[in-house]
Amino acid sequence: MFVDKVKIYVKAGNGGNGAVAFHREKYVAAGGPDGGDGGQGGSIIVKVDDNMSTLMDFRYKRKYQAPAGMPGEGGRRMGKRGENLIIKVPRGTVIKDAETGAVIQDMSDLDEFVLCKGGRGGWGNKHFATPTRQVPRFAKAGLPGEEHEVVLELKLLADVGLVGFPNVGKSTLLSVTSNAHPKIANYHFTTLYPNLGVIYVEEGVSFVMADIPGIIEGAAEGAGLGHDFLRHIDRCRLIVHIVDVSGSEDRDPVEDFEKINRELAEYSPELASRPMIVAANKLDLLAPDSDNLKRLRAHVEAQGLELYEISAGTTQGTKQLMRTVANKLRDLPPVTIYEADYVKPLAEAGDSGELSIQHFDDTWDVSGPWLAQLINDINFADYESRMYFDRQLRKSGLFEKLEEMGIQDGDTVSIYDFEFDYER
Ligand code: GDP
Ligand code: MG
Repeated sequence: MFVDKVKIYVKAGNGGNGAVAFHREKYVAAGGPDGGDGGQGGSIIVKVDDNMSTLMDFRYKRKYQAPAGMPGEGGRRMGKRGENLIIKVPRGTVIKDAETGAVIQDMSDLDEFVLCKGGRGGWGNKHFATPTRQVPRFAKAGLPGEEHEVVLELKLLADVGLVGFPNVGKSTLLSVTSNAHPKIANYHFTTLYPNLGVIYVEEGVSFVMADIPGIIEGAAEGAGLGHDFLRHIDRCRLIVHIVDVSGSEDRDPVEDFEKINRELAEYSPELASRPMIVAANKLDLLAPDSDNLKRLRAHVEAQGLELYEISAGTTQGTKQLMRTVANKLRDLPPVTIYEADYVKPLAEAGDSGELSIQHFDDTWDVSGPWLAQLINDINFADYESRMYFDRQLRKSGLFEKLEEMGIQDGDTVSIYDFEFDYER
């Protein structure tokens, strides 16, 4: 089975907790706080492996979790970082948000991508010694690692996509013009894997052509084979539409041509409007009295398309066709690389009642799951982001709660690795 689309769940490691510890030494009366920070959680990193050609490895493993960071220790020792988890994918894999389908990253021209960042380690109490709190008896919990449900979709990187009814000779054409060795047989759907071949035309001129499993009627609605494979020609710059004009299977070439075009249009109108050239194949089998070729030529040319006569079986006309393709490609835009359009939704505040608030001297330490998520999403270097944080805290009712508990102007509010002075 050829696997080219999978849904997986990924989670980066949580940050380790900070330590509460005090320096102890013989003859030293009161040592200072020396609890170290927690280690950063491992990140989820997606990496291109050019030896992979399918997403088969993901068929049975759908959950990927990077290890957490270790807690900090006394003596200012930082916890060990969680190791990054590397997920290998074939080149051309597009990572999408499972919920919205938005593109997170196209792994075509980038080799490595951090999909989920590991959580920051919590601060140990060594951070909290100030003149007004010389004995900080608190440390911070680590922040959660990011998590995401994503879809991996393989879209082959090919300049040219071969389309056409099953058995018209697509695989044969690829095999006689390229280094690829696709399966060829005289029955429908022999191609269950897309095949890629490099066509070398002359020094400095070559291109990649993809032969995808046959498109059949109804494929665009998901009936039968083909539908799933159309995504592999999504990136193509040029479509070569192969039509069997020999009449060897009792089919009408004009009808075949129109049917395939309808399938393409139903799958994607944009794909259907991609530059196309038509190749009439199996000329060696054409009966002298058949008008198939003439009718197809008239039909195709009436649509402003060019038609080339070939016989993939005997290689007649195939070299010239490849030369024409190479010439056309010169003027066409490069293979499509998908722009990322995924926008991470910012975490929102929950209720202040769900928060844990601890009071030490002049410091109010606030923590809780939604607050940890929120703090993760805030970029404190950015004004807008800080304002968002402020609005969310107000919405949660945190400040009223702190007031009730007796917070004073000038006290410190301490939220994970962020602190600010309280002012009414
Ligand atoms: P695909 O399904 O479009 O990939 O078609 P294949 O390349 O597998 O070809 C289907 C059958 O048609 C095979 O038996 C081929 O040998 C045969 N075939 C392909 N091209 C030609 C041709 O130009 N002439 C003849 N006589 N047979 C061909
Ligand atoms: Mg084939």
